[in-house]
Amino acid sequence: MITSLFVPPIYYAFLCHPTARCLYISAITALDLVAIVTLGWGAHIALMLEAVMGVAYASGVGVYVGRIPERWRPGEFDLVGHSHQIFHVLVLVGALTHYAAMKMLLDWRLRSMTSCNALCGAGFVS
Ligand SMILES: [Zn+2]
Repeated sequence: MITSLFVPPIYYAFLCHPTARCLYISAITALDLVAIVTLGWGAHIALMLEAVMGVAYASGVGVYVGRIPERWRPGEFDLVGHSHQIFHVLVLVGALTHYAAMKMLLDWRLRSMTSCNALCGAGFVS
């Protein structure tokens, strides 16, 4: 979620600098992927939810930036169905998906705490 939150500000901040914008967003995405891979495969479902979250955020940005659907029927979506409203719904979907993923990761981490303690040779520090 944090990575996805970077995309809209970077997009607008570097609007007139497409190369820098592309490099910046690509670097953040690559670092996010590294973080996901290093989490391990025991949290597959949570990682898939994180991917869904990314799709929701990216779709929201795409809808908002593309002014969809009002660009196709100007004036028809001024009150309901405006791209800004769709953007907010997709942000909510992304946030809820992220929450669900974090809950699954927490549960997964707590379930595997015994093996983690065995690997680290130390008790859980609370
Ligand atoms: Zn808004």
